[in-house]
Amino acid sequence: MTGTLPRGALALCLAVVVAATLAVGCSGNSDDASTEVNVVTTLPLFADIVAEIAGDRAAVDSLLPPGADPHAFEPSPSDVRKITEADVIFANGLGLEPSLLRVIGANISSGAVLVELAEAVIGAGVPTLAPDDPHLWMDPANGREYAAIIRDTLILQDPGGSDTYSGNYETYAATLDDTAQYMRDTAAAVPPDDRLIIATHDAFGYLARAVDFEIAGFVVPGPGQDASPEDISELITTIGDLGIPAVFTEPQTSVETRTLEQIASDAGVKVCELYSDALDDAVRTYIELLRFNAEELARCLGGGGD
Ligand SMILES: [Zn+2]
Repeated sequence: MTGTLPRGALALCLAVVVAATLAVGCSGNSDDASTEVNVVTTLPLFADIVAEIAGDRAAVDSLLPPGADPHAFEPSPSDVRKITEADVIFANGLGLEPSLLRVIGANISSGAVLVELAEAVIGAGVPTLAPDDPHLWMDPANGREYAAIIRDTLILQDPGGSDTYSGNYETYAATLDDTAQYMRDTAAAVPPDDRLIIATHDAFGYLARAVDFEIAGFVVPGPGQDASPEDISELITTIGDLGIPAVFTEPQTSVETRTLEQIASDAGVKVCELYSDALDDAVRTYIELLRFNAEELARCLGGGGD
């Protein structure tokens, strides 16, 4: 910087730094003075959380496009380029995105940081429900912990943004607390005997715990696995025995969705929808996902009146 700026400009620049602590304003060679960290995430909903915490200080991109299934996603050459160029990569871990993590491990640059958020929040003390369910973010209390890990990682990477990351985290954590209350209030409309979820894959244990529901069944533990005829007839029996009025497909599980639609047709119950791994045009953010799920449970299991 001293080589490219005249002495007077440097003095002015230092004065600005002291006055406003806007160190980025004095960078002589940055393309985008406000972007300090290049972040890549596996899921779009993690990119949404990062954007909430980072504001303008990070460029954020997700490897999965909207509507993609992380359990089976295979990255393209352009995804590999995003991985090699990232300063920080946020994944979930716990077996959610195995193919993607193999490619990340093989291509991440030597100075970059990979954080597996589910592993990190468990390491920080968040209790696990079931070892095979990696979808910890489905409970907003856990989403708050994901956001805290993201904040701490960004501060380590970009200490100059500490106040920004901490302030944004406080705001977002308060929104998540409000959302958790909204979910409980909304789901409270469902009678205790109807608080049962049958879904396409084993992704809703943490949601169920957050709103005091139970998982009555799922088509397969993870997308891409095969449901046997016995599994299917068992689900139909469960629906009948428990008097369950609706089952829940997901936007990103095409094969399992068709199976569950057939099961619902055989059992004579309604087909509704929940979000876990994917966002789309109807549900564009993590907060919208949380709110939608509570509203859909209330609407379809007897609480919403339609
Ligand atoms: Zn999943």
